[in-house]
Amino acid sequence: MTTPSLSFPLDRTTTPVPDADREQILANPGFGKTFTDHMAVATWTADAGWHDDAVRPYGPFQLDPAAAVLHYGQEVFEGLKAFRHADGSVWSFRPEANAERMQRSARRLALPELPAEDFLESVRALVSADEVWVPAAGSGETSLYLRPFMFASEPFLGVRPAREVTYAVIASPAGAYFSGGLEPVTLWISTDYARAGAGGTGAAKCGGNYASSLAGQLEGIENGCDQAVFLDSETHEYIEELGGMNLFLVYRDGRLVTPELTGSILEGVTRSSILRLATELGLTPEERRIPIQEWKDAAESGELAEVFACGTAAVITPVGELRWNGGSVNHRTAATDDKVALSIRNQLLDIQYGRAEDPHGWMTRL
Ligand code: PMP
Repeated sequence: MTTPSLSFPLDRTTTPVPDADREQILANPGFGKTFTDHMAVATWTADAGWHDDAVRPYGPFQLDPAAAVLHYGQEVFEGLKAFRHADGSVWSFRPEANAERMQRSARRLALPELPAEDFLESVRALVSADEVWVPAAGSGETSLYLRPFMFASEPFLGVRPAREVTYAVIASPAGAYFSGGLEPVTLWISTDYARAGAGGTGAAKCGGNYASSLAGQLEGIENGCDQAVFLDSETHEYIEELGGMNLFLVYRDGRLVTPELTGSILEGVTRSSILRLATELGLTPEERRIPIQEWKDAAESGELAEVFACGTAAVITPVGELRWNGGSVNHRTAATDDKVALSIRNQLLDIQYGRAEDPHGWMTRL
């Protein structure tokens, strides 16, 4: 990778969160509730490119009410974590994959691409300023969640790509994503609402996708489910993904099946890592279109052994019941042990926390 052109110099806060308060937050961080002392920022303008890079005290942006993002949603973001290893060092998992995905998202949203080395430098600079916020090794599944994002900050009304864009990274100490821990989640099939369509922005990590997933998610919650599973928008027959996670089906014969990347699914970093690990675990990975009917039938026939969702925040979450308007199915029996899901989960966590070899070179020291 080439040398970054941005250096994100540190403007240190004079009012950091007091040590005792921070320790209390780190003891039980939850997810996405509290933020560290600093944030990384940079500005892009059509005339001058990227500039005004800094790590500065965390705080509100001054945003013109006409800023394009507030009207037309021109925005993309990323999510990755920093992990503390036993020797005190801090590492990130495949950050270059997030940098590249942010570039793909930016292209789709007509935003400027931030060079991957500058993305990495922004993450490095922020984590270095806020190192005391990275939870100690051995403190359960805790990490520092990093949220890079980019939005159209130019004030104008009119639909065209903005000529001024703000990039930032904020950080939030994180514990378990779901309060239920590894309890299987119940999924609701969203048939009325699609998350993304052909030619749309489903493969990009942009705010609009999440806004459009909320009605389906709410419908799921009203029906006693934890999450909604979205189907393709044309036929409503094929599984796509959850609002914020990819999905895998595990068959008793060792097939590990996940929806192929059709252009309306986000290519998860966790998903692609699992596909790489699968063969090493003696599983047969398959990326293809999966009819939702196949899930129902395989659960009924007993061929379906496990279903799990995956993503950076929750790593891997076992899935139990599948519900829809007028029915439900559950592949779980008294003997279900989520062996595959838990073994992949532990393997990923061992690599991320430095407890196992990293044969794929997935970890980057920050
Ligand atoms: N799908 C969606 C819609 C997501 O928001 C996420 C979280 N980024 C994922 C899948 C999983 O991606 P990753 O493994 O890179 O976190």
